[in-house]
Amino acid sequence: MTDSSAAAPGVRAGIRLVRARHVLTSGSLGHLRDGAVAVDGGRIAAVGPWSELRERFPVADVLGDGGGILTPGLISCHGHFSEGLVTGIGETHTLWEWIVRIVGPIEPHLTREMAYVGTLLKAAELALSGVTTVADMFCSAPGAEPATPGVVAALDRVGLRGDVSFGPSDVPAARPIDRCIAEHEALRSAAAASRRSRFRVGLATIPSSTDALVKATADLVAEVGRLHIHLHEVREEVTESRVRRGCSSVQHAERVGLLDGQTVAAHCVWLDDDDIAVLRDRGVAVAHCPVSNMILASGVCPVPRLLREGVAVGLGVDGPASNDSQNMVETLKIAALLQKVHHLQATAMTAPQVLEMATIGGARALGIDAEAGSLDPGKSADLVLFAERAPSLAAVHDPYQALVYCASARDVDQVWVAGEPVVSAGRLVSVDLDEVLPHARELATALARDAGLPSELVRGRPTRPQPD
Ligand SMILES: [Zn+2]
Repeated sequence: MTDSSAAAPGVRAGIRLVRARHVLTSGSLGHLRDGAVAVDGGRIAAVGPWSELRERFPVADVLGDGGGILTPGLISCHGHFSEGLVTGIGETHTLWEWIVRIVGPIEPHLTREMAYVGTLLKAAELALSGVTTVADMFCSAPGAEPATPGVVAALDRVGLRGDVSFGPSDVPAARPIDRCIAEHEALRSAAAASRRSRFRVGLATIPSSTDALVKATADLVAEVGRLHIHLHEVREEVTESRVRRGCSSVQHAERVGLLDGQTVAAHCVWLDDDDIAVLRDRGVAVAHCPVSNMILASGVCPVPRLLREGVAVGLGVDGPASNDSQNMVETLKIAALLQKVHHLQATAMTAPQVLEMATIGGARALGIDAEAGSLDPGKSADLVLFAERAPSLAAVHDPYQALVYCASARDVDQVWVAGEPVVSAGRLVSVDLDEVLPHARELATALARDAGLPSELVRGRPTRPQPD
């Protein structure tokens, strides 16, 4: 057993014990059978075998029925709540087509209300799949009223920890840089006033930005110290950068100062040795998003190589328009399957590696590993309890494999962030989805109409061949 305060008395008001058949700590204690976590307010006070913690805290309330798998809260390192209302369309598009036909057209029409409702919907989906921390990059055309504060308000309502950014672009659609800066600042103010969100500078991509926007972003990174960006998602980005600048986007980002802070780079699929050296030497973390990489046919991130090189790698669900679900449990399984089939090697990615990326690896990627990512004393009590009532987790031999290959989001029974319940008995605590869904449908319909999304994308396929 480890403890944050050796002199802690055995009987203390407010301490609760969370007990589970398997506790996967992602920390110094590894896997505990019949283990428990003592929660004091919003913090983890102790972690250890159930018998020891029960003896130590004899009158503490006990949460959980003693079954199931308890893990740190899952961390999604990359996504876009700006796509919360445009899911399930464009499956045959690759990245550029998808940007031109779907994401680009909606960006000028996203309002703060759409940001709020879209985030409520997708943060709910994330929480119900065990996520406690989400890194988001909201991509919109900055208007007179900043939309991004809606993201923070919705995350606060659901109860999730947010690492929030605005991801501007100004190519091919020109957008005034002062408007982009104003949107960053509005989000920054909202995050500063929020319960659990923290601001990060964002930039959509280098090829979709003028040099002036890249420069303004680097200046803001120098002040804020954190950046969220897409790098090398598709091969065309690397080719274009080499033709235009004589180096890759990763190398250009380093030269212009974008990587001077703590950086999360989404995707990093197309990397050569020099790029990997930059990521390693500059401490750039990678947000690996296997589902969207597969849907958009982008390629396969060299995750095993990056891990060997010591690059921090977290997992992300990516945006609701390119995943298209926000199911983190699904992302765990696919992260393993993608590497196995790509390398034609069953050992290419193991279940413990996947859980590590989804917890402490994600925390390292976001620079919050002193606060979250593992069940260790002193950290925030961000926990997920997967129940064993459902058939999927009825017989657990290896809890890591059970979690990665057998579990589904339906098995997420309890989620706590900083000791506060966000999901209880498989239902959101603070949001009544029955109230949110009808309005979300109306907004989604209005957004598709106002953005002029191609009719064949949003009306579905005909059930029989249509006459020409
Ligand atoms: Zn993305």
